[in-house]
Amino acid sequence: MISAEIARLMETDSGIRRMWMAGFELKQQYGEENVADMTFGNPVAQPPELLRQTLQEIVSDPPEDLHRYTHSAGAPEVRERVADHLDARGILPGVDASHVMMTSGASAATNIALRTILEPGDEVILIAPHFPDYPAHVLNHGGTPIVVPTTADFLPDLGAIARSIGPKTRALIINHPNNPTGRQYSEDDLKALATLLRDGSAANKRTIYLISDEPYREIRFTTEPFVSPARVYEHGLMAYSFSKSHSVPGERIGYLAVNPRCPEADVLVDAMSFSNRILGFTNAPVLWQHVISRCLDAVIDLEQLRGYRARLMKALIAKGYEVTETEGTFYLYPKTPDTDDETFVQRARNELLLLVPGETFGCSGYFRMAFCVDDRTVDLAVERLPWATCRV
Ligand code: PLP
Repeated sequence: MISAEIARLMETDSGIRRMWMAGFELKQQYGEENVADMTFGNPVAQPPELLRQTLQEIVSDPPEDLHRYTHSAGAPEVRERVADHLDARGILPGVDASHVMMTSGASAATNIALRTILEPGDEVILIAPHFPDYPAHVLNHGGTPIVVPTTADFLPDLGAIARSIGPKTRALIINHPNNPTGRQYSEDDLKALATLLRDGSAANKRTIYLISDEPYREIRFTTEPFVSPARVYEHGLMAYSFSKSHSVPGERIGYLAVNPRCPEADVLVDAMSFSNRILGFTNAPVLWQHVISRCLDAVIDLEQLRGYRARLMKALIAKGYEVTETEGTFYLYPKTPDTDDETFVQRARNELLLLVPGETFGCSGYFRMAFCVDDRTVDLAVERLPWATCRV
């Protein structure tokens, strides 16, 4: 028999995957070309040309150790290139290779960080709406998720976060640009959050870490600069993924970087490398460590995404939806016009348009549309989107 906890988690499993399965069945029944699947953040765009060329070069002229284990933290030259990139671009100034470790994507990075810092019963604050897997990631390592809603315009509610910090608080997970809301947070808000965490750490006489999950950092449509929460707070741990920016989600490649001002950075990276191994990830895929480290600045076609976003926004507004233009990510998060998310999503599904209910992200009353799709899917979505009579 499976464990009671896994049974319970599967029961409440992410609506995204359930919708994905429903989509699979609908595609078999009606033909793939007739279904507008906007459920999954699984980009259909090809990776950047540079990445494809680099992959071919490395495969045809491989380094001698390409298929061997690397150090659990990653190949030294790869860590160095990632650190140089983060430093040179001002994302994490002062960082060097010793602060960086390669991981099998951002979810692995978050699990590694949590495994390394949590004691049983420690609390981890999550800001809702949030990536659906966060609560399970916290539970994986004996932690307790504490979910705090954002303000009405999807910004961190600093008052509510302050009230949720208690003696057992060990970490807060933040994600911006945010999946699903697309919001990017200001430096002022992040600095105020850092002050709360510093005060909480002082009161608890134990560090509260900030895990900054940033897979959408390069997918932004605003001219406002992106500020990494991991840069603003000295106990910041940055989880990055190339799944979205480089359109390689199946390859499982990303990294963890520790703020270089963190006094215990060396101990942390050493322990996180150990956690990487004992969690069974061992080391990040070696081929992809090498490929990605030579293509760090290559990013998918943002102009295409910007076009899709504009067309979908126009269609949503024309059909009566309440929706805020996103600052980043490839998601839109409009208000649900029906009394509950599931009813609306079912109504759209009847039109062969697949969406994700807001409750999946811990925030009902909304639905998510993923637009990392192709032209045909956007055309279909614009056509199939049901008319809304928006709630006030
Ligand atoms: N974090 C957020 C906010 C995401 O949206 C996703 C994927 O959708 C992930 C983490 C998982 O990223 P990865 O594929 O690198 O594990």
